Amino acid sequence: MSSTSAPAEKTVPTNDIIFSCSHCSTSFVVDSAAAGRTWNCQKCGNPTTVPHPTLDAATENAGKISDLQNQLKENESQRTEITGYINQHSIQLHRWQLRLQTLKERQEKLETEMAALKGSNAQ
Ligand SMILES: [Zn+2]
Repeated sequence: MSSTSAPAEKTVPTNDIIFSCSHCSTSFVVDSAAAGRTWNCQKCGNPTTVPHPTLDAATENAGKISDLQNQLKENESQRTEITGYINQHSIQLHRWQLRLQTLKERQEKLETEMAALKGSNAQ
């Protein structure tokens, strides 16, 4: 109940920032006033930059999520478009293959006819 300050323990205000060292991944809690400052890690001693408060990170994430959703939507519509082209061309390809088959059959028929006539001429 009493708020007399403990000797070494620091109180944890609500505006503290929890972040991880970019070198050793150790988590630290710092005051939000330190946001954006470069600071030497207490564990590995490397300089690491204190990020802006979690609220900013959440806002930033929401922005990234909506950006990704837009990209996914755009990607999906391009997929639909390309799938449509493939379907159209598959149908066209099938028609050409049928046409080619018809032409081959006609060629055989004509050649048979010609061979028959040549044969009767030779006799
Ligand atoms: Zn570190």
